[in-house]
Amino acid sequence: MTQDDYTVSEMISAKSIAARIEALAREIETHFASTEKLVVVGLLRGSFVFIADLVRELKLPVEVDFLEASSYGNAMESSREVRVLKDLSGAIEGRDVLVVEDIVDTGHTLNHVLGMLRRRGPARLETIALLDKPSRREVDIRATWIGFDIPDEFVVGYGIDYAQRNRNLPFIGKVSHK
Ligand code: 5GP
Ligand code: MG
Repeated sequence: MTQDDYTVSEMISAKSIAARIEALAREIETHFASTEKLVVVGLLRGSFVFIADLVRELKLPVEVDFLEASSYGNAMESSREVRVLKDLSGAIEGRDVLVVEDIVDTGHTLNHVLGMLRRRGPARLETIALLDKPSRREVDIRATWIGFDIPDEFVVGYGIDYAQRNRNLPFIGKVSHK
């Protein structure tokens, strides 16, 4: 599909995102105040802009790692298969871990990733999602911290793509088909 088949309109401005990240960073600093070194895990690829802004706002010792998971299968099925395409580079046993996700939609991806990471025995395992679509949930899961609750719209920008485009938009935009 080419860019001409749809338009993108701003839903959340770059300024609002920055202000929300500042506020969330203060909560995360309080929660992990005693940490020796926090492992911040970005779920590729959609969280790469969010994690970059978030870690620069965090006044904590951090280490950054990445994990890529992909969700397959029929959207009509309530149980979807989640595969790990790229695992973490480092071990997390006994460590404090913060998983950073772009959007929690049905919840299958986060549920699977957290289950897998929990089995590795981290000291503390928390999650932050920039966006949440609670109306779409199929698995009972909620991130510890959420940037914005949004309605059931397809969004792009700030790291999030539509067919690998629009990741470089500085804001979150809603896709409308012409
Ligand atoms: P879940 O397993 O929660 O259904 O899937 C979450 C993933 O679906 C997100 O990390 C994201 O990759 C993708 N996703 C959900 N909603 C949207 C959306 O509005 N736009 C885009 N580009 N991806 C989305
Ligand atoms: Mg994703």
